[in-house]
Amino acid sequence: MGHHQGTPILASLRHLLRALTQPRVFRITRWARMVACCPACQVEPGIPCHDNGRALTDIHPRRIKEAKETCA
Ligand SMILES: [Zn+2]
Repeated sequence: MGHHQGTPILASLRHLLRALTQPRVFRITRWARMVACCPACQVEPGIPCHDNGRALTDIHPRRIKEAKETCA
């Protein structure tokens, strides 16, 4: 009987990749939040991004760009 085992190696690889990439993204996010104003939602450095009055756990991508330009 042909039985699909799935792809456990691929699945764990994907999990590993996510574990490796997320902390770095989180650090960049936190750094950008500390150093840059957000061009998208107009908050000051240190203030979390918000969207329609709701605070975001993430920040707007434009803020990361802004932070890089600020520190360049
Ligand atoms: Zn923002």
